[in-house]
This record gives sequence, C-alpha cells and structure tokens, in this order.
Amino acid sequence: MIRTPYAPAVELDDVVKTYGEGAGAVTALDHVSIAFPAQSFTAVMGPSGSGKSSLLQCAAGLDRPTSGTVTVDGTELTGLDDRTLTKLRRERLGFVFQAFNLLPTLTVRQNVVLPLELGRRRVDSAAVDQLLARLGLGERTTHYPSELSGGQQQRVAIARAVLAGPAVIFADEPTGALDTNAAAEVLALLRESAARQTIVMVTHDPVAASYADRVVFFADGRIADVMEEPVAEAVATRMTQLGARARVAGGAHR
Ligand code: ADP
Ligand code: MG
Repeated sequence: MIRTPYAPAVELDDVVKTYGEGAGAVTALDHVSIAFPAQSFTAVMGPSGSGKSSLLQCAAGLDRPTSGTVTVDGTELTGLDDRTLTKLRRERLGFVFQAFNLLPTLTVRQNVVLPLELGRRRVDSAAVDQLLARLGLGERTTHYPSELSGGQQQRVAIARAVLAGPAVIFADEPTGALDTNAAAEVLALLRESAARQTIVMVTHDPVAASYADRVVFFADGRIADVMEEPVAEAVATRMTQLGARARVAGGAHR
C-alpha cells in the first residue's frame, strides 16, 4: 500500500450517526467531516450529549455510521466485514475507554503485554518495567485488575495501548479518574507518543486538552470550533460559551 506522508491517520467524511428510528430518533453526529493528521494529538471537547463518544466509536470502527465514510490508516472501514474490521482494530488501533477492558484473570503485566503476544511480537521486558514504573505501577505488576483502584486500572489500559504502539490511540476521558499527578504523567506520555502515533482524546478538562496540538469542540453533533495550540484558560472560556449555548438551544424541549 502506498501512503503519502501527509495522509490523515483517520478521516471522517460527511458522517451521520442516528440512534433509533422515527419520532424517537436521536442524531448524535450531524454530517461531520474531520481529518486527524498522522502523528497529531487532538482533544475533543463539548457539552454532555454533543456526540463525542459517538465520534470516537465511529472513528475507531467500534460502531458503524448511519451514512458517510470513515477511513483509518489508509483503509476505508465502510463495507469491511466484521472479521476484517476486528483484525484492523486489533492490529492498528488502541483504545483507552472508561470501561477499562482489562482481563480480570490476567495480572497487570500480562494485560499490558497481551496485544504484543496476540500479534506474536517481541516483548521487551525492560521497556515494560520502565513504562509501568513511570506510571506508578511498578509495585503492581503481579496484581489483578480487581486489586487496583479505578485510576490504576486506567493507567494499565494506557500502558497497554502505548506499548503496543498502534497507528492510532482513541481515549475517552483517560484522566477522568486520576489525581493531578497521575493525570499529568499520563498526559505527558500521550504527548510523547504523538511523535509516533495519532492520538484522539475526549476530555472535559481544559488542562488535559492543553497537552494536545488542537482542540475540536462539539455541540449538538457538529463541530462548533477548532482551536490550534490550545491554552487551558482559552479552552475553559470556550467550553463555558458552548455549554451556555447548548443550554439555551436545548433547554425548552429536553
Ligand atoms: P457525549 O459523549 O458527547 O456525551 P454521545 O456521543 O454519548 O455524547 O451521545 C450523543 C447523543 O446520542 C446523545 O443525545 C445521546 O443520548 C445519544 N446516544 C448515544 N448513544 C446512544 C445509544 N446507544 N442509543 C440511543 N441514543 C444514544
Ligand atoms: Mg461521552
């Protein structure tokens, strides 16, 4: 496959996502077109219900758009059968979602190296130790997920995604359950990873968003604004404006 150096890692073209049918139908994504350039770090923000999770689900091939196309790492997802889609997800995408998707019967270390082993790739033990230590999990490598706090489980999920080194990492609120120090460590790690990978991160936190190259603001299933080189304070101001607008627009009938 030939790829141009500037090809976007993920591209959505005129994507509509509707849940339900008829009078009860909800349009979560309303003709969204956006490209996430390779090796970029994008934060996605917006009021609750604005379509952020739907965007991530469609972009990551975890859900199919109602119409429009999604292209990931040069492959158009629309039309792929479930098996091919699953294979593409496993080989080229990484996920850090609110449900951590850690396997309960595997230890921290086994969970982290699982994608490498599934792909029959070499495991660099020293690199695993180093990464886990950096994320404050050095003493936890032989523990099971049920023995960890939510924040610790989240860090295991992040370690697993970063170590596997997929083309794109999708993260939904990866720092939501973390204290300030742990959040800063995770965000620094994602920031560094963007030198090799594409990061798309949903967050409510303006400070977290300020680690990204740009912020895409959603409102009512549409892109309301894009901010390059975000600074936390400006992000917070924009969020407040969007929140106020969403309340005015949606207040009467929701
Ligand atoms: P966000 O992540 O920004 O809070 P979502 O993408 O989760 O927004 O939701 C966008 C809209 O789609 C909301 O109105 C939500 O209620 C609706 N929605 C999301 N998932 C479903 C679903 N599985 N079934 C029905 N409606 C849904
Ligand atoms: Mg959400």
